[in-house]
Amino acid sequence: MCSAILERVLSGRWIAGPYISDAINQAQKFNGYGITPIINYLGEDYSERADVKKSIAVYKELIARISEARIRADISVKPTQLGLKIDEQYFEKNYILLSRLALSKNIRLWLDMETADYVDQTISAYKRAVHLGNVGICIQSYLRRSRRDIRELLDYDIHANIRLVKGAYTSNKSSAFIGRDKITDNYHTLMRYLFEKGRRFTIATHDDRIVTEAIRMNLKYKRDVTYAMLRGIRNGYLIQLSRMGFQTSVYVPFGDEWVSYSYRRLKEGGHLSLIIRSLFDYSI
Ligand SMILES: Cc1cc2nc3c(=O)[nH]c(=O)nc-3n(C[C@H](O)[C@H](O)[C@H](O)COP(=O)(O)OP(=O)(O)OC[C@H]3O[C@@H](n4cnc5c(N)ncnc54)[C@H](O)[C@@H]3O)c2cc1C
Repeated sequence: MCSAILERVLSGRWIAGPYISDAINQAQKFNGYGITPIINYLGEDYSERADVKKSIAVYKELIARISEARIRADISVKPTQLGLKIDEQYFEKNYILLSRLALSKNIRLWLDMETADYVDQTISAYKRAVHLGNVGICIQSYLRRSRRDIRELLDYDIHANIRLVKGAYTSNKSSAFIGRDKITDNYHTLMRYLFEKGRRFTIATHDDRIVTEAIRMNLKYKRDVTYAMLRGIRNGYLIQLSRMGFQTSVYVPFGDEWVSYSYRRLKEGGHLSLIIRSLFDYSI
């Protein structure tokens, strides 16, 4: 009972609310701080086309509402939300459709990265849309393959837009780094590579040591770097970065399906500090 209440309270910090209007409202507030929201409609792992169709309909409406409200916002989709678990071609078709629609309204569309099983197909779909110029992809430092993936993406298109994260999933030792220190070490390695070879990318982490290092590196490289965090974890720090003149983004999920999202946050927080800090973080 107590944990159910805590989950509800925390998901309220992390998730904008059930409706598109909640996401738009949040986006307007973050815009007021100079922060670009990355809006995600919650949903994943779909095995039924009806669920995929519903998601696409919501994203179409979201794109229209962002444009009407004249706010600055990106959107982010999960591959299995667009049908990857059902059929790869079906997913690609849906993804290209949404990318083009987003482009017509000058909105950036990000592909979230899910479990290791889906990385190949997610990258392959991204490559098919990268020429549009308004798309980005997430790459995770917990996976051993990510260095090769980043190199191949940048070889494919020097303007490939990569959002680097540690990863919210786990995998076995042969394909993944196990343990926070190793995953963080690999994050530093991949970030260095992005500074050397990339042009524009997003450093998506709440880890201030990484952010500080990125800011230092960019004095030398002068890349197009954005700093991104999840809503409700370190809003105050993000606002501070924005006030210092850095490009900033915040991931803002909305919708009914908040359970798996909140569960992932609680699992990775693992430590009580995530929970306590989320409860007392600067509220927006
Ligand atoms: C914009 C964005 C998009 C994402 N997209 C994806 C995706 O598509 N796929 C995916 O797998 N994952 C995604 N993630 C989640 C990501 O993979 C991590 O699970 C999540 O960001 C936690 O890792 P971390 O880098 O913050 O580091 P952690 O190792 O969790 O935290 C590192 C350090 O940051 C500091 N810290 C963390 N939380 C707090 C806090 N609340 N207050 C103060 N200090 C804190 C602490 O010093 C902590 O030791 C995304 C994350 C962001 C920010």
